[in-house]
Amino acid sequence: MNVEILQERLIQKLRDKGIKDERVLEAFRKVPRHLFVDSAMYMQAYEDNALPIGLGQTISQPYIVALMTQLLELEKDQNILEIGTGSGFQTAILAQFSRRVYTIERHQALGDRSRTRLRDMGYANVTFRIGDGTNGWPQWAPFDRIIVTAGAPVTPDTLSGQLAIDGIMVIPTGNRDEQELMVYKKAEDGLHSHSAGRVVFVPLIGQQGWKE
Ligand code: SAM
Repeated sequence: MNVEILQERLIQKLRDKGIKDERVLEAFRKVPRHLFVDSAMYMQAYEDNALPIGLGQTISQPYIVALMTQLLELEKDQNILEIGTGSGFQTAILAQFSRRVYTIERHQALGDRSRTRLRDMGYANVTFRIGDGTNGWPQWAPFDRIIVTAGAPVTPDTLSGQLAIDGIMVIPTGNRDEQELMVYKKAEDGLHSHSAGRVVFVPLIGQQGWKE
């Protein structure tokens, strides 16, 4: 079946589930998700499910990618820090909106594959790093937006410290099986937070995350 038809069906599902930001839905038209999974999963790439990408990791469910992107309230010319590059799909969605995406992945093989994939797709505004993202990326801080795509036991202080004033951070926190999707907004008087609902993510492993 033709990719455009599959994409439109997925976009309709995202709308039905409450994604309203047209820019986010448009980004899903521009980033063909089947290019981020094994070619055998072509059709499954347009179902609203997480899929395996190797090393026990997953490409996140499209609805969750769309929800997290919507919650970031992105504007053009922002710098975004992403922890957990994975397949690079969320990275590519973020790159549609931003000046630059700084993305960190702890698994070398996944990070290298995503770097090659996005370079081949023509993305020039993404900077990749392999390492423990729980320490953030002080060299490029502060960030206008921070997104963490793995579940943390608590929100690392290092990450909130690297968020700019008026910045927004989205991070799942909780136990290893289930988390709350926390949204933080940084104001002059400190951080304000709310939960956007329950989610299930693979664990954030690192110095300020879970032990391996
Ligand atoms: N957004 C990604 C996508 O669409 O493909 C999904 C990422 S997957 C759910 C979470 C990723 O976070 C995994 O690739 C995992 O290796 C990575 N990860 C876990 N702990 C990390 C850490 N401390 N620093 C960087 N990456 C980490």
